[in-house]
Order: sequence, then C-alpha cells, then structure tokens
Amino acid sequence: MEFVRRELKGALPRPDWWLVRPDEIIAQCENVKKGKKEIAAYTPGGFPVYVITYGPERPVEREINWPSATGSPRPELYTLPGPQCLMIIGGVHGEEPEGVMAVLNLMSLLETGKDLAGNPNPELVKLAENYRLILMPCINMDGRAISPDCYVGGKFEDFADLVYTRLKDGTQLRWPQLKEYYPMPMDQVERLGTYYNSEGYNIQLDAAPGNICTEEAKAILRVAAREHIDLFVNLHSDGCEHIIVSASLHYPVNIETCKAIRKVWLKVRGYDPETDYCPSTQTDIDNAVELATGAPSFTFEFGLTSAPSHERLVDEGYGILEAVFRYGVDNVFADRRKIAGKE
Ligand SMILES: [Zn+2]
Repeated sequence: MEFVRRELKGALPRPDWWLVRPDEIIAQCENVKKGKKEIAAYTPGGFPVYVITYGPERPVEREINWPSATGSPRPELYTLPGPQCLMIIGGVHGEEPEGVMAVLNLMSLLETGKDLAGNPNPELVKLAENYRLILMPCINMDGRAISPDCYVGGKFEDFADLVYTRLKDGTQLRWPQLKEYYPMPMDQVERLGTYYNSEGYNIQLDAAPGNICTEEAKAILRVAAREHIDLFVNLHSDGCEHIIVSASLHYPVNIETCKAIRKVWLKVRGYDPETDYCPSTQTDIDNAVELATGAPSFTFEFGLTSAPSHERLVDEGYGILEAVFRYGVDNVFADRRKIAGKE
C-alpha cells in the first residue's frame, strides 16, 4: 500500500504548529527528554507506534493479573504503589488527528512548559504532575499517513469520500454500516478508508480475547496490563465534543466513575451539568483494556465537524485533560475492592 496523504477540498490550511503527520509525530516522540520513549509496535505499513511515559515508575512487587486479583480476597493488591496511572491514547482512527494533537501538546507542555503553538499552560502541567502518564499519541499511523491534516473548513461529503472505504462494485461503506465487516474485505476493496490500518483492521474493534489481530491493539493491551493502569482515556473525533459512557460490559462501579468524570468535564467546559448523554452499547478496545486491568475506560470524542478553528480543537483537548486530572486529585479512579465487588 502506498501512503499518500489525501487532501480535503476546502479545508483551512493547517497552522504551522498542527504537526500530526507521521514523520512529525515520530520527530516529536524521538525528541522527548524528560519523558521516556519506547516503540511498542510497528504497524503493517512499517510505522512505529510510540509509548511516552512521564512520572515515577511504579514497582511491581508481586506478579498478579487483574482476573486473578478479582478472585482473591485482596483485589487491591493489583493497584501499584505511587501516583495514580493514567493511560491516554490518540489516533486510533486515522482521520481523527485531534486526539493526536492533544497528546502531543501535553508532551510539549511537560517537556518545555509550552505547547506546540508556544502557549504555556502551567495549571495543566501542575495537575499532570500528580500522575504517572502513559501516552500513546498515535495508534493508527497507517491511517494517519493517508488522512487529511484536519477537517476544519471542509464539507462532510468531501470528507466522507476520503475516509470511507470504497468497494470495487462502487459501494461506499459508511458509518455505522462499515462495522458490518471486520476486517474490511480487502479482496473487494477499491480504496481503503482511513479508519483502518493498512490491512483493513479497525483497531477500536480489535478486542476479541484470543483473536486480537493487530500489533497496535496488542501493544495497547500489553502496556495497559504492564503498567496496571488506573484509568484509560481513548481520544476520538465526531460531530461535537462528548464523552461516551458505555453501557455494556463495564464494571458498574467504573460506569459511575466515568459519569462522575463527565460531570467534572461538563463543568470545566461550561456546559449544563444536566446535559444528557446517549450510552453506547458497542463492545471495543475500551472494554478489553478494562478486562485486562480493572481500570475505568472511556472514549472522548472531539467535535471534528463542528469546530470552527484549530484553536477550538486544542481547547477541547485541554478541557478533557483538565477534567480527568482534576477528578483524580480528589478521587481514586480505580478502587479495586469496590470494582471487584468486595465491598
Ligand atoms: Zn474514532
């Protein structure tokens, strides 16, 4: 597969700090000094998938996995000593660079005190210092490599033409019908959409135990389990910004935690605290991470098609990060005794 970036007709030119192309992501990860970098996987297209960590490493004093902990009298043994550990990932879908941008801006703030546009955010940096952070700025580097830089100023029909898979019979596989295939039927594909890695896998849905198909999803699960993470935040993009509270296959305690984080987020963003949400019934990588670690997990969607500017999208990123960081100052993300039903 050839990796050529698809240009979105009518999109505003990106600001010079909107650095979300694979070579730019790689350069930023390679430049990390205060954090630690590792390559957790390579995509089928040969791109590295980075993990960048900040904050003290937490010693694993006892080998135990989460399922074993849940059956034991002391599930709290799974929680590692030290600061709470947040895992934040972006770019699971190639055409959604906003989460990539948010993670890269956070890295830049932690490295230099300024984000990529040169703006300081000392409050966010101070909040971030309360945690061990596991950051994966861009999971689906293959999809990113063929996606536009951003949607701002574009039209949905032009965007759809670029990001949805076109079959040889002329069918365009749109959301949500695109989920009627896993992976994409590559022998019938005329042009693969940008959701997928170059083998046609939607990494968000690569979550069936015993049949995890992509190195990208394996890396997410392996790193989450290795770090015994306490919260998993998966950054995506959609019509307007919202937190998806999943209704299926999550620990009831964790669903409540995600609702509580959402309350803080509504406040941070100045939205009506009673704003309703539509629970998702999809089973996906968020569930798999929760099964592997016991940690609450949720997806945040940026307002890809509604944001009038790149700056607005940056603000949305700071909003969700601030809400998560603030929540954890006063609360435990993963009270593993409660999660495992021991009290
Ligand atoms: Zn997505």
